[in-house]
Amino acid sequence: MTVMFEKVALLGLGLIGSSIAHGMREQGLAKTIAGHAKSAETRRVALEIGLVDSVHEMPADAVAGADLVILCAPVGACGALAAAVSVQLKPGAILSDVGSVKGAIVRDCGPHVPPGVHFIPGHPIAGTEQSGPRAGFAELFHGRWCILTPVPGTDPAAVAKLTAFWEALGSMVDVMEVAHHDLVLAITSHLPHLIAYNTVATAADLETVTNSEVIKYSASGFRDFTRIAASDPTMWRDVFLNNKEAVLEMLGRFTEELAVLQRAVRWGDGETLFNLFTRAREVRRGIIAAGQDTAAPDFGRGRAKT
Ligand code: NAP
Repeated sequence: MTVMFEKVALLGLGLIGSSIAHGMREQGLAKTIAGHAKSAETRRVALEIGLVDSVHEMPADAVAGADLVILCAPVGACGALAAAVSVQLKPGAILSDVGSVKGAIVRDCGPHVPPGVHFIPGHPIAGTEQSGPRAGFAELFHGRWCILTPVPGTDPAAVAKLTAFWEALGSMVDVMEVAHHDLVLAITSHLPHLIAYNTVATAADLETVTNSEVIKYSASGFRDFTRIAASDPTMWRDVFLNNKEAVLEMLGRFTEELAVLQRAVRWGDGETLFNLFTRAREVRRGIIAAGQDTAAPDFGRGRAKT
């Protein structure tokens, strides 16, 4: 157990904030953890289950004296949070976040970072479809990547310290340019969520198939879409509002590929279908080979997902 920070403040105590808290407790990374969340109920639960040592109605009170402040709220809420805590940020402190979009975080939070505070946006590529303060668990980050997107000119020592923090939580860390992060995540995470939401909504709207049939026969692929589509609506609304260009770029490419498949189905072009499915299968094998999932037929699905 090595204390890395005297005081860490978590602003947002849902799945990601609570998982960071559990991980810090397990590894003894912080002497004190202070927390803030929007609702009194979440603050009460966070204190009750021991996620934090203190909770604060005002975010500025949580960050006072903190060496590390992590914004763990939906992307659309982070700018206002950064503005609210700006005056209380301690010189030399690190301000980071876990938002799924990075360009918008730099745009919305950057202007509120006072001189002497190290602003290092971050994104753990780990999650589940659960949310709230009881959803977190320390193992969430084990073996998962965390991407840091420091803006040019950031102190390398602060980046090294935050890297060591995420590694202590069990993650592997990559440093990436902000716009590149948003493009990569648009295809690996944001587009799949949009497709899942759309697939589930389409099935729910069908008039010729009853809702009970959709549920009864859900094993054939649909069930995995429903798991993704169960993700927090606020979080995902904010992702699509804040990563518009990259998502539209990937959606355009996706639509072109879909048209190729549609044509192949219409014309009975088995070769095109077979070749595309074979290429896709190779990607799945690559993910398993990289240790980002297992080949087990996990019909019940474990808690962690990539
Ligand atoms: P979550 O479980 O829904 O928790 C969100 C937390 O933020 C809650 O504690 C909520 O408080 C708080 N919050 C919301 N609006 C706020 C505001 N205006 N001021 C202060 N606190 C506010 O969400 P999550 O899954 O932990 O996601 C948090 C962040 O992590 C998001 O930016 C998301 O993009 C990112 N992320 C999520 C995943 C994932 O798979 N879930 C993965 C990687 C990154 P209340 O409970 O009081 O409403």
